[in-house]
Amino acid sequence: MPYGDKPDIVRDKSAELYEKAKQYFPGGVNSPVRAFKSVYGTPLFIEKGDGCRLWDADGNEFIDFCCSWGPLILGHNHPKIKEKIIEVMQNGLTFGAPTALESELAELIIKNNKYIEKIRFTSSGTEAVMSAIRLARGVTKRDKIIKFEGCYHGHTDALLVKAGSGLVTFGETSSAGIPKAYADETIVISLNDKEAVKAAFEQFKDQISCVIIEPVPANNGLLLQDKDFLQYLREICDENCALLIFDEVISGFRVGFDGAAGYYDIKPDIITYGKIIGGGLPVGAYGASAAIMSNISPEGSVYQAGTLSGNPVAMAGGIAQLTELAKAGFYKELNTKTEDFTNAIQRYASSKSYKFKVFRIGSIFWFAFTDLEKVQTSEAIDPKSMEKFKLMHRELLNRGIYLGPSGYEVGFVSAAHSKLDLEKAKRAIFECLDIVFRNK
Ligand SMILES: *Cc1c(COP(=O)(O)O)cnc(C)c1O
Repeated sequence: MPYGDKPDIVRDKSAELYEKAKQYFPGGVNSPVRAFKSVYGTPLFIEKGDGCRLWDADGNEFIDFCCSWGPLILGHNHPKIKEKIIEVMQNGLTFGAPTALESELAELIIKNNKYIEKIRFTSSGTEAVMSAIRLARGVTKRDKIIKFEGCYHGHTDALLVKAGSGLVTFGETSSAGIPKAYADETIVISLNDKEAVKAAFEQFKDQISCVIIEPVPANNGLLLQDKDFLQYLREICDENCALLIFDEVISGFRVGFDGAAGYYDIKPDIITYGKIIGGGLPVGAYGASAAIMSNISPEGSVYQAGTLSGNPVAMAGGIAQLTELAKAGFYKELNTKTEDFTNAIQRYASSKSYKFKVFRIGSIFWFAFTDLEKVQTSEAIDPKSMEKFKLMHRELLNRGIYLGPSGYEVGFVSAAHSKLDLEKAKRAIFECLDIVFRNK
């Protein structure tokens, strides 16, 4: 074994569980990225989590930087969330009728967010986005939408569309099973490209209902946009009576309590939430001004519903988590801690002249094997660099560090990561960088 290498972790139990799962689920999983297709080895089956740590079925222990893809900003098994959920559960799980808990969570959100006045809860981010698009179409009475290449908005038909070739194109579906007619209503543009946005609005005058963007694109690397570009979207939407949708399923309650809208101080017309909002339980939401939201059924004519929407136990998870996040100084501490962590990693990589950048906003970070100063479009990501990530991922697992199993995914630091945990993780990351760049 060459210097610095460690033996691979034991995955016998995970392998066994994976074989069984493959009998029941396509690819053995209930969401594709979990299958470890772009990293080494069998997917790890998780047995439990506590604080910033995870344990798999073979008893391997990891410091977790995936955090269930974002929801766990307080870490696993937070005592306040657990307590609140158990308390609420005692009274039954679902009623299909309103409860006070929905208003409690809504109040917590709206009192701390000047960008929305009314909200509707759903059970996932996908559902929130799908409903927001329908709302925009219903309000404007127009069908076309603009989205950006490299932004993910869940698996709703209209948005599983990727760019064709050319400046302004109708998208091509990025999944089988989506009617071409749907894709023809979706215009796909490169991120950070004002000219293309302008051209699209000229070409499809009075036909565009909305522009949807992840203001912090974090599902295909971390493609941090210039504020100027986001501001431009606000202006061009206003000029064309189109609505601006910020999909804040990741950035909401993450870069600050009031999300990217607050971070950039740009007021979108509709905001979607998910992930953090449910404290680890399935909750999504979309919010807007009272006037826009009045178009939603039963007040208005845009239909949207859900058997388990506003589920009391899920609301309890959201209330307990968001109560902690709304406390003074929460984000400052988390963001500073993350910044110190990523700065140290960048300093190390730079001191060794490794072709490696850590991009960060708030407590979101992305390891990019690049020497570009900025990566703002998906075209700027070199697919070949993912080979390096694959090796890094394996070596990190061998050192007790868990990252999401794809180099296109971002990592998250939670309030449960202590300085000591981050110190330990940093050392492991340094070692892994040395291994990845050993034969550079
Ligand atoms: C995760 C995500 C979604 C989809 O949310 P689900 O809860 O997985 O359906 C939509 N948009 C963004 C920006 C996301 O990060």
